[in-house]
Amino acid sequence: MSFTLKEYFRDYTPNDDQIRSCTELSVRAWRLFNELGFDPVLTSGFRTKEKQIAVYKAKALTEGVPFDINKVPMGSQHMKACAGDFSDPGGLINNAITDELLAKHDLYREHPMYTFNWVHLQTVPPRSGLRTFKP
Ligand SMILES: [Zn+2]
Repeated sequence: MSFTLKEYFRDYTPNDDQIRSCTELSVRAWRLFNELGFDPVLTSGFRTKEKQIAVYKAKALTEGVPFDINKVPMGSQHMKACAGDFSDPGGLINNAITDELLAKHDLYREHPMYTFNWVHLQTVPPRSGLRTFKP
């Protein structure tokens, strides 16, 4: 496992489906990172609706743009326990990840152009079906 259930859910109590999804993500991510020789920290795990809104409020503040609740993506895989963000200062991990490796470990990631110092991995394909996709 690349992270524990406690690290992923924090003070939220997951149901069986969420535990299953999170475990699958943790195992696949561990296999990928292990092959590449990285052991990154989970920086963002499960998000409730409230947490998702808070994340995007903070993002708007950081970017100096007005917050618009209608632009918060409510279909995020973080809210389904199928996605995680991992620290990647300098983009070393993102540089090492290829679509072939993602296919081998059955993972999908947000394009590094949109994730400046982290890697977003998920177990569920995006609408485009691309292994590296635009969020
Ligand atoms: Zn993410």
